[in-house]
Amino acid sequence: MTSRAELTAARGQLSGDIGYVATMGALHAGHRALLDRARAGNRQVVVSIFVNPTQFGPTEDLSRYPRPIEADLAVCEQAGADLVWTPGVQDVYAAGDPRVTVAPGPLGNELEGAARPGHFAGVLTVVAKFFNLIRPTRTYFGEKDYQQLALVRRMSLDLDLGADVIGVPTVREVDGLALSSRNVYLDAVERQRAVGISRALFAGAADRPQAVGTARAVLDEFGIVPDYLELRGADLGPVIDGEPARLLVAARVGSPRLLDNVEVAP
Ligand code: AMP
Repeated sequence: MTSRAELTAARGQLSGDIGYVATMGALHAGHRALLDRARAGNRQVVVSIFVNPTQFGPTEDLSRYPRPIEADLAVCEQAGADLVWTPGVQDVYAAGDPRVTVAPGPLGNELEGAARPGHFAGVLTVVAKFFNLIRPTRTYFGEKDYQQLALVRRMSLDLDLGADVIGVPTVREVDGLALSSRNVYLDAVERQRAVGISRALFAGAADRPQAVGTARAVLDEFGIVPDYLELRGADLGPVIDGEPARLLVAARVGSPRLLDNVEVAP
């Protein structure tokens, strides 16, 4: 279903705990892990498929972002989704371009936010709208987009949106590459090189005192120059001795910008 009226009517029929998964489609096993968690933990499962223009920069891949809607609907059905909302831009932004938006706070300008100005304001605004329309009990976000997960979690707390935000571990290819809808942009040679990203993170995670230097050396071997490679605390604040940390990277391999991160144990 696509219209707001259909969503509102269908949402009114749902009762009990609602698990919600927000996606931009081109669904893969990473999305499926979120759907499975939602299915296991809730009476009903709601999925949205929406490529949100307001989170893309002017030079980004909005127009060529993959949109295999039939295959996506089949994945949702197989995963036991009760309601799949596939709105158009006019359905989501019924009042036109939003003038009032969610301010992500300082973290919104760091890491991904530094490379993509306005990205997280776009993400949080659309997620807040979807939370208000869908009113989920629990919502599932991938650790793959770790900063997004941290910001959505914080938004739900700070704005009392009432959704319990649950992080789901990153699903990877056998060689370690994190699954991403953008991996389809990699040609065969780039696909081989892209494995350097997860290799670098795993090497860094095994060497906490020199995590960044060790990871950087592996990226060098693969000829990958990161946009950023940082060790942060689990909440993306400063690293705290004796507590888990997070090693995060973004790098272009060919045309796509790939993101990944891993936990670094104390
Ligand atoms: P997207 O469709 O890229 O906006 O992603 C929708 C949701 O799926 C987000 O919460 C992502 O973090 C999550 N996700 C994407 N890739 C993966 C992955 N490889 N493993 C786990 N979750 C993922």
